[in-house]
Amino acid sequence: MRDFSYLRATSADAARQTAALPGAMLLAGGTTLIDLAKCGVAEPDTLVDITHLDGLDWIEIDERGAIIGALATMSHVADHADIKGRFPAISEALWQAASAQIRNMATIGGNLMQRTRCPYFRDPSNFAACNKREPGSGCSAIGGVTRGHAVLGTSEACIAMYPGDLAAALVAFDATVHLGDRRIPVDDFFLLPGTTPGKEHAIEPGEMITAIEIPSSAAVRRSTYLKVRDRQSYEFAAASAAVGLELEADGRTIRDLRVALGGVATKPWRARAVEDALKGKMLEPEAVRAASLLAVEGAVDHGANHYKIELAPRVVARAILKMGETA
Ligand code: FAD
Ligand code: SF4
Repeated sequence: MRDFSYLRATSADAARQTAALPGAMLLAGGTTLIDLAKCGVAEPDTLVDITHLDGLDWIEIDERGAIIGALATMSHVADHADIKGRFPAISEALWQAASAQIRNMATIGGNLMQRTRCPYFRDPSNFAACNKREPGSGCSAIGGVTRGHAVLGTSEACIAMYPGDLAAALVAFDATVHLGDRRIPVDDFFLLPGTTPGKEHAIEPGEMITAIEIPSSAAVRRSTYLKVRDRQSYEFAAASAAVGLELEADGRTIRDLRVALGGVATKPWRARAVEDALKGKMLEPEAVRAASLLAVEGAVDHGANHYKIELAPRVVARAILKMGETA
């Protein structure tokens, strides 16, 4: 890890301006960035610490929805009584992420910006070929060990999986990212790798995440985040689903359904085909299981990650049926 300067930002504007300079990066909880600096993936000259900025760690909730400041910690948001009660999938996604120690340090802004766990990306001394790190260098994963890699949204340049849990829940419920005055739907904030896998977010130099906004809906009020992983804690998703369900007054017909996948795609993945197939239909296990197969339409595997194509629809179906049981 090479030397860098440390600056404590005194205002959001100063942080943005300094972080726009070459070699400068924002530092929030540091639980991703310091790891990446240690393994040589991030090489900052200057870290701009934003954790002491005032006014960015609040949570505001009213009938329109929730606005969560970028510096709110994962544990603060996960444990907030109104987030638990009115946005359960958000709380559950955060509770199932990382460890208690990390959740106490890590912020919502940093969480969205976390980078892939692709082992080749994180090991520059042994794997020079990585288009995400070094454009045009190739991809060590394609043809390598692919068990944790994506099956949706991949390109010939990169098959790295986006690992975050929160973002899948945010995409399902049409959340927006606030970059100061600029607003971007979370779905558009995350970019597909295409031919430029190094560009992962629609954030520009000089911009900073200031908040996320989640609109209220009946679907988010009855929502869940189901995460399947190799071990039951402190592990990234093999496949996960954020699901929200609204039923008609008869208690059986689906009025609104939200489905997004984590752990299987290069970005948080909204499964609109599943939603469209089930809206207006009766909540029947057989119909739910058949429609859930649409979640992996267009999936491409690279050998060892084939199991995700079978697993993801089962996770989706289980989450929808679980929500149905709470009706
Ligand atoms: P930092 O490390 O401070 O920053 C991360 C990046 O975001 C940096 O590039 C930084 O410049 C940028 N950044 C920070 N704040 C802003 C902002 N406001 N605007 C713009 N850019 C910003 N996550 C999961 O979702 N699920 C898991 O199961 C999970 N398991 C984990 C296990 C381990 C062992 C570790 C180390 C991490 C795990 N994580 C998991 C990731 C964890 O959630 C992230 O490390 C954390 O959320 C990052 O937040 P931070 O505040 O520490 O960000
Ligand atoms: Fe790099 Fe993406 Fe290939 Fe991993 S999958 S080695 S991040 S280009």
